[in-house]
Amino acid sequence: MYNGRVVLVGDPGHAVLPTAGTGATLAMESAAVLAEELCRSTPSYRDIQHTLLMWQMRRGPRIARVREEGNLLATAITWTNPLAVFYRNYMAASLPGNYFSDSMMKLLYDPI
Ligand SMILES: Cc1cc2nc3c(=O)[nH]c(=O)nc-3n(C[C@H](O)[C@H](O)[C@H](O)COP(=O)(O)OP(=O)(O)OC[C@H]3O[C@@H](n4cnc5c(N)ncnc54)[C@H](O)[C@@H]3O)c2cc1C
Repeated sequence: MYNGRVVLVGDPGHAVLPTAGTGATLAMESAAVLAEELCRSTPSYRDIQHTLLMWQMRRGPRIARVREEGNLLATAITWTNPLAVFYRNYMAASLPGNYFSDSMMKLLYDPI
């Protein structure tokens, strides 16, 4: 997400599949966290490099989690094998209504 003095925020830095439904959110979060980290830094090149590394490490796990969930959903919704499709549809209909919303709410309220 950064190289030297160049920082990429949003899709150029950490694109996720549209099935994650969170790419724009991640972009805004990354910008906010970057601003927060830079406010703690001195303007020296060395400190800023350290800050960018900290920023990348702070953002990595959350982005990886969103990416993984988006990839899983993309895989499941594009299955074509009739047995797999039947299983997916059966499971989706059987899961409690809050199964997906609970996971999304947790993501929303986890610290960024
Ligand atoms: C179908 C779909 C559904 C989505 N649903 C959601 C959702 O529900 N929630 C969510 O949070 N995210 C969602 N996303 C993801 C979200 O749209 C992206 O993560 C977000 O728009 C990324 O913002 P960005 O500023 O990084 O890039 P972009 O929004 O792609 O902005 C880049 C801009 O740069 C411009 N540009 C490109 N090249 C040049 C150039 N050479 N010179 C000048 N300008 C240039 C482009 O025209 C564009 O306007 C969805 C994405 C898709 C495709």
